[in-house]
Amino acid sequence: MSHIANETGIDTATGTDAAQQQLTAADRCDSCGAQAYIRVTINNGELFFCAHHGRKYQEKLSSIAHTWHDESSRLFEEQRA
Ligand SMILES: [Zn+2]
Repeated sequence: MSHIANETGIDTATGTDAAQQQLTAADRCDSCGAQAYIRVTINNGELFFCAHHGRKYQEKLSSIAHTWHDESSRLFEEQRA
């Protein structure tokens, strides 16, 4: 399993490892309000997306995203359980 978020090596800037923090049920998709499974770090802050909207915006945001934290695989595991 590859970690796209680590490819840019942004961790050094802030000292906090926010990109490594797991998303919780309190994190909500900025687009539809569903539980967020994807967190995107950009210059102005963070964006949260559900699995659906993460896929939808991935192409558009990948050029400006610093990190792309994707836990959508966890969603599918939970659904199967
Ligand atoms: Zn959504």
